[in-house]
Amino acid sequence: MLETLLLSAALATQPNIVVFMVDTLRGDLLQAKTPHLDEFASESLVFPNANSTTPSTRSSAASLFTGVGPMVHGVRHGKTHMQNYPGAMLSAELDKRGYNTLAVVANPNIDPVFGHARGFEEYITLYKRKMEQPVPAAPSDLVSPAQEVVESAAEIAGRAKKPYFLFVLAIDPHAPYGPPGSECQGEQECYRAEVEYVDRWFGWLLQRLPSDAVVVFTSDHGEEFGEHGQWRHGRNVWETSTHIPLMIRCGKKGVVTSRVDLLDLASTILVLGGGTPPEYWPGRDLTKPITTRPVVSLWETWRAVRWEGIKYLWHENKTVVFDLDQDPAETKPFRAAPVDDESLIPALRALGYVE
Ligand SMILES: [Zn+2]
Repeated sequence: MLETLLLSAALATQPNIVVFMVDTLRGDLLQAKTPHLDEFASESLVFPNANSTTPSTRSSAASLFTGVGPMVHGVRHGKTHMQNYPGAMLSAELDKRGYNTLAVVANPNIDPVFGHARGFEEYITLYKRKMEQPVPAAPSDLVSPAQEVVESAAEIAGRAKKPYFLFVLAIDPHAPYGPPGSECQGEQECYRAEVEYVDRWFGWLLQRLPSDAVVVFTSDHGEEFGEHGQWRHGRNVWETSTHIPLMIRCGKKGVVTSRVDLLDLASTILVLGGGTPPEYWPGRDLTKPITTRPVVSLWETWRAVRWEGIKYLWHENKTVVFDLDQDPAETKPFRAAPVDDESLIPALRALGYVE
């Protein structure tokens, strides 16, 4: 009896946790009008300087799900997966603590075949559901708009055992751009229209979730519109591709300007769920004051390390450095000024550094 009472008390302190990830959503939302997100931000911890670990769905979601970066979980480029990753999974850790672990996903890049579903008790893949109908959907109908995603999320949350952890991946701002029924024109206008569409349906879902649920709003990576000569995502680690929105509604509110990432989010969620992150998880608990650590993004031959606002970017043996606080668009790299070191040559020669 005593054990049961203690267990009940422990569960009562564990909130329901919902992570709403929007695929391909830039940190600046491309200046879309998002009244529901604005209201959500006013009651949340807001992290305006958050980054994804890569510019790719499969890899970034793997980082959130495993609490470690791509070099550890193994999804480092478009052809890798984490089927054999042996480390801890956020979902499994929460499951061990009594959570009902659930997911609704609209992007096949995190299909169970890639290893993402480990630790989830129920993992709904909306595209497969459509493919398995008696009359399979046409390829163009396999992409579920936010309305379908949130209706499925609300249904699953409504019947979930408490406490639950619900991961939702909507896919709207992903190309091709333009929400259902929109008459938008041009790539940026149609992208913005999709962001506004997903804002509306995120607001709809919020009204159907318990008001005391922890709710996270974030993205897996950004999107480029030619700022650095490339379009879409999955090509490099410029901020256009790796700066993401991050807000956590957890009973605290305010703006935290420290540089953070999806690894921090993994640790934060596990702590909120009553767990202790494994020692090899580099993430911090974002609901508490945090110390600075390097925030890394990588993809193929690209590497980026940020120490707060200073970003080191490596690509093809070139290194450039940006001050993101002064130059968020990354247009003005620092250049090392030439140094007259002639007078030092005798001393350097004595040490064998020059001939
Ligand atoms: Zn994505």
